[in-house]
Amino acid sequence: MALRLPKLPSVRDLTRIYNLRAKQQLSQNFLMDANITNKIISMAGLELDNALCVEVGPGPGLLTRSLLNGGARSVVAVEKDPRFRPILDQLQDASAGRFRAVVGDMLTIDHAEITGCGRALGGRDAAAAFDSVHLVGNLPFSVATPLLIQWLHMLAQRRGIFASPQVSMTLMFQKEVGDRITAGHSEGARGRLSVVAQSLCDAFRIYSVPAAAFVPRPKVDAVVVQLRPLDAPLLRSSLTTLEHLTRMLFMKRRKMLARIVKDWDPAHLALLDECDIDPTLRPQDVPTERLCRFAQVIEERAIRLP
Ligand code: SAM
Repeated sequence: MALRLPKLPSVRDLTRIYNLRAKQQLSQNFLMDANITNKIISMAGLELDNALCVEVGPGPGLLTRSLLNGGARSVVAVEKDPRFRPILDQLQDASAGRFRAVVGDMLTIDHAEITGCGRALGGRDAAAAFDSVHLVGNLPFSVATPLLIQWLHMLAQRRGIFASPQVSMTLMFQKEVGDRITAGHSEGARGRLSVVAQSLCDAFRIYSVPAAAFVPRPKVDAVVVQLRPLDAPLLRSSLTTLEHLTRMLFMKRRKMLARIVKDWDPAHLALLDECDIDPTLRPQDVPTERLCRFAQVIEERAIRLP
């Protein structure tokens, strides 16, 4: 049977009691409806039992409560705003040793701190990596893309929490960003982020959340995206080379590839043929796999990108 938290004051009351006004510079838009946070966790379909769950930006902690009520055994949350410390400490006390909060910046934190807290919760051998790690969060919109890019680099190199053999990411983004991450080739929202993410992961939308569900209400709707690492990643170069290549291509997204490559260096036109890429296509119409092959050839031959 799933472990459950004891009855706690509502997060709405707690934010009032502690006088926690949302800070725009930290992209604070809170979820106050447990039906929504419970739904996010159930739609994510995560095996919570023996995994380490890492939550980014718990804020007042409603999504954290849903994780814990959903049966998670070890949840470590990283929150940048120290004003949430008392609320998160309360949740820690109520969690029967299943939850720890760290005040820190997810962009710069040493992941050893996160796994160290996780091991303390789970009582595991300090040397062992977790069998599975689920990264979860209603991300601060202002740093959501840099965070995702950083995690993809770590995943490519199996560093930090991504050293675990099984990793998943269940993350809320602004709808427009979520659409870009998940867009397949030839879809309107296709861009650099689609290719970079899909070179390593299956990426799909699992739940839409309207702007009206947040306090304060943001200007745009949100979407929860799940990223699951591919068993056989398409990426065959460094992620940095793929990033550079896609930056060059998608900056001129309305042009045909032949034109973009010719503008770069006409001597490289033959590479398109070699990578089985139709030169009359536009960047958004090329499958991820072919772009990964293109990046591989560029890297193998030490060709300089602009
Ligand atoms: N999880 C809560 C919820 O769903 O109501 C809050 C989500 S709110 C959109 C984003 C949270 O991330 C805020 O609590 C904010 O303080 C925190 N945050 C912002 N930047 C952060 C960073 N770099 N590292 C960790 N937390 C951050």
